[in-house]
Amino acid sequence: MIELTDVTKAYAGGVHALAGVTLTIAPGDSVAVVGPSGSGKSTMLHMMGTLDRPTAGRVAVDGHDVGRLTDRQLSALRARRIGFVFQQFHLAAGVPVRDNVADGLLYAGVARAERRRRATATLERVGLGHRLRHEPRELSGGEKQRVAIARAVVGEPALLLADEPTGNLDSASGAAVMALLHDLHASGTTIVVITHDQQVAAGLDRQIHLRDGRVVSP
Ligand code: ADP
Repeated sequence: MIELTDVTKAYAGGVHALAGVTLTIAPGDSVAVVGPSGSGKSTMLHMMGTLDRPTAGRVAVDGHDVGRLTDRQLSALRARRIGFVFQQFHLAAGVPVRDNVADGLLYAGVARAERRRRATATLERVGLGHRLRHEPRELSGGEKQRVAIARAVVGEPALLLADEPTGNLDSASGAAVMALLHDLHASGTTIVVITHDQQVAAGLDRQIHLRDGRVVSP
């Protein structure tokens, strides 16, 4: 699903956010990315999500060599194959929950009525079928994150990338969110989760440890 070969990301000032990362994530894997703050976790997730291009090295996602695709082709790859979940939820304020989720299909070329139908089905799947017309501000943090996950997976992506998805949640809501991610993994989605939480990391098949932009053994 993901192949990074000698991937480097350098920023002005000589910071190497990634300094030669080589790894493979197979279809159906569930992976935790762990490491101290500033070790390159978010930068690596951005590479995997084709949100950013490496300074050097090769990134392949779902069989596509990212370096050979135009920005337009990368957008299409993201829209069809990759879902993203962030610590801060990033829901549209003032927009009902169902439309927040339906908008996850805007770039997949799905007609409006069908977008709404699929959004409803996905919200039912995450246990929020009774909140379709609520606005984000009317929901708890855990419910917001379940909406964000519904939006990320409404297009049935092969790959789900999550950056600290439980970082803003109390432990009960965090556990519910992780149960949902495990459920998606069980149905075949490849998941990669950045986390500081040992328990979350231990619950996934594999851990990748980063330090100073490199993969290290624990
Ligand atoms: P983590 O997610 O593990 O906290 P990041 O991937 O966010 O780490 O950052 C890795 C390193 O790259 C840090 O030293 C950070 O300051 C630096 N960095 C990240 N993004 C930028 C940027 N846009 N410009 C300059 N430096 C950056």
